[in-house]
Amino acid sequence: MKTLAVVNSKGGVGKTTTAVNLSARFASGDARVLIIDLDSQSSASFSLGIGRQDLTPSIGNVFFDQMPIQEIVRQTSIDGLNLITGSIELANADVIMANVKGRENQLSSAIEHISDEYTYIVFDCPPSLSILTVNALVTADAFIVPMCPQYLALEGVVTLLSAVEKIQEGIGKTAKFLGILLTMVDKRSNAAEELIQMVRNHYKNTVFNTEIGISSALAEAPGFGQSIYDYAPESNGSKAYTDLTIEILDRMLKKGEN
Ligand code: ATP
Ligand code: MG
Repeated sequence: MKTLAVVNSKGGVGKTTTAVNLSARFASGDARVLIIDLDSQSSASFSLGIGRQDLTPSIGNVFFDQMPIQEIVRQTSIDGLNLITGSIELANADVIMANVKGRENQLSSAIEHISDEYTYIVFDCPPSLSILTVNALVTADAFIVPMCPQYLALEGVVTLLSAVEKIQEGIGKTAKFLGILLTMVDKRSNAAEELIQMVRNHYKNTVFNTEIGISSALAEAPGFGQSIYDYAPESNGSKAYTDLTIEILDRMLKKGEN
């Protein structure tokens, strides 16, 4: 398993923070890593230091203008981590691609040209089940679902997972569900703690042991275009994402064998 999508149709749950820091951690060894920003908000691209004026060419040019994917891969300031940006054009993807035959396979066809160059490829998905998220789910070997421990977020995950199942039934081959990641956990909140217990009781081992706590360093790092490993390597956020990376690699290995 090498391709991983970070998915949740709910917004602001830590998808981008997770995709960026996980990619940075993957790249800290010998691995060659690519992160693809599938969101018109371009948060992952900004988080890796790309300026607004430099967002294009983006993955949108591959989908809509048939630009070769090799031409839009960029290096980041992190050794071993490459990036394909997202840009505002992606906001129209559902409309533009509505009548394109095989529209759910655009990403997977594009990736074939560069896949061999990478050990891991991470997709940061937009907060919707748009055609872009469907493309990520079709292409990825596995997906993870970050969620904040709040009641409506839990309902959202139930809906999301059944929607993904529907997509899988419709399309056939899709990513395997690797697990739920609890993010922005406030250990001082009893309500959050109760919800976490509910989630863990219901989803059992599917929930990663690692929880990402609320961390000002994690919130600040994107403003400096840095991963948590460059911005605050000794922080709790940095340690949490390292623990998560180990768990994810372990699950990818095990699921890959099944
Ligand atoms: P969207 O759905 O809009 O793409 P998202 O799910 O990708 O959002 P992020 O952008 O990662 O979520 O996070 C939302 C906001 O919360 C950002 O400002 C981010 O910096 C902040 N944030 C993420 N994780 C944490 C954390 N563990 N502690 C504190 N702030 C966090
Ligand atoms: Mg995001």
